[in-house]
Amino acid sequence: MSILLAVYITAAGMIVSSFCNVAGMRLAAGGSVWRPPSRCPVCIQPIKKRDLVPCCSYLYLGGKCRFCKNRISAIYPLMEGAGGVLFFLAYARFGLTAEFAAALLLISYLFIITISDITAMLIPDRVSLLFLLGAVLLKFFWLEEPAWTESFIGAVAGFFLLSAIIMTTRGGMGGGDLKIFTALGFFFGPCLLAVNFAAAVFTASMVVFLLYPFGIFKIGKPFPFAPAIAAGGIFTLFAGEICLKWYLSFL
Ligand SMILES: [Zn+2]
Repeated sequence: MSILLAVYITAAGMIVSSFCNVAGMRLAAGGSVWRPPSRCPVCIQPIKKRDLVPCCSYLYLGGKCRFCKNRISAIYPLMEGAGGVLFFLAYARFGLTAEFAAALLLISYLFIITISDITAMLIPDRVSLLFLLGAVLLKFFWLEEPAWTESFIGAVAGFFLLSAIIMTTRGGMGGGDLKIFTALGFFFGPCLLAVNFAAAVFTASMVVFLLYPFGIFKIGKPFPFAPAIAAGGIFTLFAGEICLKWYLSFL
């Protein structure tokens, strides 16, 4: 592993996740990703270019807007830091391969759907479509696994699994979740999709269990599921194969 390249990739991960934060919020609000330039939500002052450096800007501004001194949410530097770490881990795990490119595509997609679902409780269809298109192109030109048949079975499995859940829970999950799992089914294939789904349900259950006493979640009240899908997706990316082998050893 080249140390210099690892530093560049980590920095790129921070920049990409910072962009995904903005894209997730703007697409969920039905706006453009590119315009207008980023502004402080309180004083509406355009944010200076030097204050857009991932993580660093938040630290040297003391977590406050340069103009009105309003507190900036810590979620921005946290997501940017997580982006850097995940890009680095993807490089360390896959090296400069087609799998690495696929991992970056997946991580970026999961960042966008997480922010979009947290801020607006919806996942724009075009984000899932773009991810699916990216996955198809990667497979067509470069990526060998999973095989095309596995990808198609995975997409169909994701579609029918979520359709069945939507019908039986009558709105427990939505059309956004359906598109996410169809796209993830294509990306992972059916077996790893099962790992992703199980990990997402486990994550959501744990979060609800831990936060329920604080009144953050109420029975019957919808809550964003995409962050749990994203956590499951990251788990599957790095540990899915190991998890699957461990599970199959019991059969
Ligand atoms: Zn401000």
